[in-house]
Amino acid sequence: MIIDNLAEFASKKFGQNFLKSDIYLHKIIQAMPNDDLKVAEIGPGLGDLTKELVKVRNVTAFEVDKRLCEHLTSEFETPIHEGRFELKCGDVLERWESKSLLDESYHLVANLPYYIATNIILKAFKDEHCQSILVMVQKEVAVKFSASVKQKEFSSLSVLAQTVGKATLCFEVEPEAFVPAPNVTSAVLLIEKDTSQDDEKFEKFLKIAFAQPRKKLSKNLSSTFSKDIVNALFSKLELDSNLRPHEAETSTYHHIYNELKDNLDGNEQPKRKQSKSRERNTKKP
Ligand code: SAM
Repeated sequence: MIIDNLAEFASKKFGQNFLKSDIYLHKIIQAMPNDDLKVAEIGPGLGDLTKELVKVRNVTAFEVDKRLCEHLTSEFETPIHEGRFELKCGDVLERWESKSLLDESYHLVANLPYYIATNIILKAFKDEHCQSILVMVQKEVAVKFSASVKQKEFSSLSVLAQTVGKATLCFEVEPEAFVPAPNVTSAVLLIEKDTSQDDEKFEKFLKIAFAQPRKKLSKNLSSTFSKDIVNALFSKLELDSNLRPHEAETSTYHHIYNELKDNLDGNEQPKRKQSKSRERNTKKP
């Protein structure tokens, strides 16, 4: 496929910002876990990262854009023929609805479409076959996943990342490394999984705990659970009643959750009525 103007060709709808920097492509390959597991790539695009990946691993890639699927099928004819590369056309989130992305253990490596990056990472947390996640995302998202307790960026995403393993922001990537250049700085994030996290109720609990990140944790929890129960629990766990959400350790969240989860049926609405603007701004966990 000959593309005269890549910036015009790129589809905004599919979050296409093609990485056109050999330096960063190689840095991603160097940051990969050092073993022989298969790689799942989401959004191979024009295949620049894919070309580097198939040199070192067997790869299965998931691409939603039919124009790119045609291009990749011809570009990777040899590795497809040799069984080193498989291309699945369609929306990766649909595939993830019913089963693991791959039928065997794998590492996820991708320059993710930013509009669904957080969603994809949370799906990979749940997928038992996924052993690690090495992804290019918006820097802000990478910071949220990799923040440590007491840093102001420590969020529900940091708690979820620490629940499955260890998250590291590997390096930042400037907008000019992509065509078209995104409006934000990007970063490569590595999450090495020790376990999976498939408890949607825990995600809901964290949403409540971090609903207003600058308020007291006890206050956020009291929007859903009775104040008496929350106060009694803070005494039992010897927690400071002034604790802010970013100051509580991941293990503390698990302790609180274990005590409160039976009072959480999954359909909670905060007791206090939210203002319209806050409803619109409701964030993912
Ligand atoms: N890997 C390429 C690169 O580094 O240049 C392209 C990365 S681009 C940021 C994101 C890619 O994800 C695009 O190829 C886009 O078409 C694809 N994509 C977007 N939404 C998708 C989805 N729901 N399922 C599978 N692929 C998707």
